[in-house]
Parts: sequence; structure tokens; C-alpha cells
Amino acid sequence: MCRLSVFAAVLLLSACCWADSEAEDLSVSELLERANRNLVRSDNEPILIEGDIAIDTDAEKNADPCTSNGCMWGKWTDGNVYIPYYITNHFSDREKAIIIRGLESFTSFSCIRFRPSRTTDTDWLSIESQNGCWSYVGRRGGKQVVSLARSGCLYHNTVQHELLHALGFNHEQTRSDRDSYIRVLLENVQSGMEHNFRKIATLNQGTPYDYNSVMQYHRYAFSKNNQPTMVPIPDPNVSMGNAKEMSRYDIERLNKLYKC
Ligand SMILES: [Zn+2]
Repeated sequence: MCRLSVFAAVLLLSACCWADSEAEDLSVSELLERANRNLVRSDNEPILIEGDIAIDTDAEKNADPCTSNGCMWGKWTDGNVYIPYYITNHFSDREKAIIIRGLESFTSFSCIRFRPSRTTDTDWLSIESQNGCWSYVGRRGGKQVVSLARSGCLYHNTVQHELLHALGFNHEQTRSDRDSYIRVLLENVQSGMEHNFRKIATLNQGTPYDYNSVMQYHRYAFSKNNQPTMVPIPDPNVSMGNAKEMSRYDIERLNKLYKC
């Protein structure tokens, strides 16, 4: 009897936790791809580029990176950058805890302080479970949504990834100097997805190109034929796009941008 109930408990445990243990083996880039695969966007949702970056108009595809028009969050006199957030109430307590852990992680390695919003705040992040995982790049002014869909986006590293977008960062593979570190193989990219490999004047802050950045996509991202779409150079075998958390250089870049 006792043995039976232990067996039942083990069965129950493995069934409940199977999905999460699979996620543990996936990089941020794979998690985002899995969550955003086959999203059907409606007209009242923002356009997504590079998988998870929100823009409001097509013109923004070619716009300057946000820091040239003042998209950074302001610094307070105590040297910290306070960013108000509101978490909508459609998350469970467990999901909310994952989000808050992601928000608070920035306190341990930077001067970024996410704090609950107040009615007097003019700019704030509204963290919602919309369609997929996505964020705008940088501060937009007023309320701005960071979408963390309950199905697929609630992991520590995906939360960090989307918050880094909101702080002003782009994907590593769009870096201005990327052609010295990766070869983009457009012939393997799904038709219509080529714009995901655009190159922009990114905020590199003197940090080296980082294959282990939480903002680097994996080598098969947007592939149409299971062939790589990006290959590291000169050594094609170095690990790339496998980050499970923010790298040393992700942290350094953040601290340099906000002069922490
Ligand atoms: Zn992203």
C-alpha cells in the first residue's frame, strides 16, 4: 500500500515537472523561439522583429537605435536607476515570483532598481501575459508593455532577456561589429526572415563580441533547412547562443551604459 502510494507520488511529480525539466536544457534563445513559434499576431498588437522586439510602425525597422533619441531610463541623485513596474494580476503567485526574481536580480549586479509603480509615475513597464515573449527596446515614454506569456516565457533568463531589451539593448547578432565574429548565412534563412539579421549601431560599450550573451541567438535561429544561419568566425566550433543566464559582459555592458 505504502509502496504503491510512493509510486503514485513519483508518477505525479514527474508528470507535473516534465515540461520544466525540458526547459532547463534549453538556452534563452531556444526558449524564446519555442514560445514565439507560430504566433498569430492581430492588428492591435505591436509588430515583432527579430523574434521578440516590439515596434509600433514599419518605419521603426530602420530607425536609429534608441539611445540616440534618449531612450535610457533616468538616474536618481543617489546614483540608482529606478524603473517602475506593474505586474498585471493574471499571473499566479508562482509566476509572479519568477518575474520578481528576474526584476530583483538586477540589484545584485548593477544600479538598476525595478520598483513597484506609483500613481505619480509617468513612465513604467506593464508586465503582462500577452501573445508571446516580447519587449520594446528602451524607454518609450508612458506605459510600455513587456509581454511574458504564461505559456513559455516564465523563466529567469527569458525575464532577464526581455528586461534587457526594455533597458535599451539589442540582440548580440545585430551588433555593428558582428561581421568580424559571425558569418550570417542568408541562404539558410527562412524567406521573409532576413530582416532578423540586420546590423545596427548597437551599444557595445567597449565590450567584446560575446557568443555567450543572453542576447545572442543560437546558430539555427530562423533556419529554413536545419542548416546554420550563423557561424562563429574564425572558429566555427565555439559555443554560441547557449546562454542560460546573463554573462559577465552582459552585466558589464549594462553597468557601462548606465554608468553604475
Ligand atoms: Zn530578444
